[in-house]
Amino acid sequence: MSTRTHEILREVMLQEIKTAKEKLGKEMVILGHHYQRDEVIQFADFRGDSLRLARLAAETDARFILFCGVHFMAETADILTAPEQTVILPDPKAGCSMADMVNRDELEEAWELLIDTYGDPPFPITYVNSSAEVKAFVGQHGGMTVTSSNAERIMAYALRERKRIFFLPDQHLGRNTAYRLGIPLEAMKVYNPREMRIEGGEAREDTKVILWKGHCSVHQRFDPVHVRKMREEHPGIRVIVHPECKFETVQEADESGSTEYIIKAIERAPAGTKWAIGTEHNLVYRLAKEHPEQEIYSLNPIVCACYTMNRIDLPHLHESVMNVLNGERKNVIRVPEEIASWAKVAIERMLRLG
Ligand code: SF4
Repeated sequence: MSTRTHEILREVMLQEIKTAKEKLGKEMVILGHHYQRDEVIQFADFRGDSLRLARLAAETDARFILFCGVHFMAETADILTAPEQTVILPDPKAGCSMADMVNRDELEEAWELLIDTYGDPPFPITYVNSSAEVKAFVGQHGGMTVTSSNAERIMAYALRERKRIFFLPDQHLGRNTAYRLGIPLEAMKVYNPREMRIEGGEAREDTKVILWKGHCSVHQRFDPVHVRKMREEHPGIRVIVHPECKFETVQEADESGSTEYIIKAIERAPAGTKWAIGTEHNLVYRLAKEHPEQEIYSLNPIVCACYTMNRIDLPHLHESVMNVLNGERKNVIRVPEEIASWAKVAIERMLRLG
């Protein structure tokens, strides 16, 4: 296809999406995660991180929710919406490698081992970046979900309720947050699901947090060396990273926080501030475009963008919008009721705590 034909096709798609949105009005809402491509996010009625999008999904009365994000987010939206509402994920293959690092069977094995080891059940907490069946397990066992925005508050609450926390699937978010709460690294253990064992020596009574050995393949690639390099090349630069980054990277950075936190930090900073940001590239480059008054760099420009988030592109969005307009139900995300009901318990516990 020639470049000109490609451009014309894109123009047609852009125009058809705009027209369809006008025709559908309040019947359809498009939710877009901050990590989505510009060509997609421009059509989002609301943008946000996982927490904001979960709240928006719970509040909207649109009949169709077109979720531009990844699979676990669309599942959460389905769980929180009424049965007559329909959640659509423009590309059903848009998963999350972190969420895929834990499944219900592995979790049940781990749970038994932890109870055998420590005697009493820990407080299970799952990052929202997990499947509905994992959320359901957590809900059934008295726990709740967290996002990177509220992990600190929820972990503090959990430690008042039980002696220890079982945090999954992102070991880095769990470790970084627990450390901020004053828990020393020696009081944290890692559960290795491949080897079905707790790493790092024998179980100790003073263990406060057991971390599932999972990670985000994008954020794990920001290293302390990148922070040092940025500081050398750009004296005075501030380094801000997402707490899905490794502990050592977060320690070297000036600040860490959720995507909403990062966005607000950039918005509030005086003009002329230099920033190196350690999170997904779509967001970093959008911030650089939207804030020409700041000097913004990716902490590691050779880190790949999130492959699964990027699966949703203009053609996928266009197809989904046209399907809604033409009454075709495709790529609908439906969580079975027996899973959804317990997963909802875990999510609503989180939403109540804030
Ligand atoms: S950035 Fe990481 S955690 Fe987020 S969707 Fe991609 S793989 Fe999953």
